[in-house]
Amino acid sequence: RLQQRVHGTTLEINLNALTHNYNFYKSKLKADTRVMVMVKAFAYGGGAAEIANHLQQLKADYLAVAYTDEGISLREEGINLPVMVLNPVQESFLHMVKNNLEPVVYSAAFFRQLGIYCQQNEHRLKIHLDLDTGMHRLGFEESEIEGLINLLHEFPQLEVASIYTHLAGADEEIHGEYTLHQLEQFTKMAKDITRTLDYKPIIHALNSAGISRYPNHQFDMVRLGIGLYGVEVSGIYEGKLKPVSTLKTTISQIKYLSKGQTIGYSRKGIMEKDGKIATIAIGYADGFDRRFSNGIGYVMVNGKQAKVIGNVCMDMTMVDVSDIEAKQGDEVIIYGPEISLKDLSQRIGTIPYELLTNISSRVKRVYY
Ligand code: PLP
Repeated sequence: RLQQRVHGTTLEINLNALTHNYNFYKSKLKADTRVMVMVKAFAYGGGAAEIANHLQQLKADYLAVAYTDEGISLREEGINLPVMVLNPVQESFLHMVKNNLEPVVYSAAFFRQLGIYCQQNEHRLKIHLDLDTGMHRLGFEESEIEGLINLLHEFPQLEVASIYTHLAGADEEIHGEYTLHQLEQFTKMAKDITRTLDYKPIIHALNSAGISRYPNHQFDMVRLGIGLYGVEVSGIYEGKLKPVSTLKTTISQIKYLSKGQTIGYSRKGIMEKDGKIATIAIGYADGFDRRFSNGIGYVMVNGKQAKVIGNVCMDMTMVDVSDIEAKQGDEVIIYGPEISLKDLSQRIGTIPYELLTNISSRVKRVYY
């Protein structure tokens, strides 16, 4: 079923689960709401080319990446869906034009640079306007809209493919009022721009959590990210999504140790009673966070939780299997359907996004 393993650690990507999640979100959208899928950061660790290819087959409407080079890689893989680039740099203008990539424009200065470049080189380019309604990361603020409208008319070679905003707290109910205010302000700002254009850009605001919490604000398109990869961050669709990725490794060796013996670097792990440990073939260089050291993290060995004992090493980790039947070569699940990414990430004060995107490039991705 799977390609042959060449490295002890593999990330298995279940494309059927991805299809399920995609169709689930589609079922929550109006028939004419388009879907842009975030495939930045190596498609949240899953592998941009394969996932983008799959999304192309699923007839997703748009893709989005963070940087121009991520977009170029998609084109080299034969992906021909429209691609929005969230955070392009000036040096990449030519590559964007050549590769038919569509930059986000988030400031007047950037608009002007891009406009002059396209004017001088007689290029036309589709762009996306980021409006800042409260995320305070990138984007035009309300006071800058008039200047933006002037720029749009000064540089007609930049065609506005879409106008969007990003929600700062869609995942948590406590930010409801703030989010609704963002959506209201966005509606107004977007209208102020579109009424001066003789064509109609796509309007969009919702990320995964936004789709579940604010379904009345779908506008023309949504930007689906983490939910597609099977992680439900808002809690509203809990149990409805299928986990897409399973990070697996194997046991390299079993050691029988006595009470008081220490394990690993800085001798941080200590056997509290006679027992056995398994050394598994994954470390922080694979993306298994070092903060999982010393009992904070756990893995699944033959269906049972085995706690990390001692410090996570670069390529290996030791886990306590004193009460588990385990032998060299046995499979170990690091993240997967039986382990909650939310729980694991909370243990080290982070979010599932970081666990997923930190799985390093040396971990082989296999698709089924
Ligand atoms: N839109 C923008 C601008 C983003 O930066 C992201 C991801 O960080 C998303 C949408 C998707 O968010 P999520 O993965 O929470 O669905």
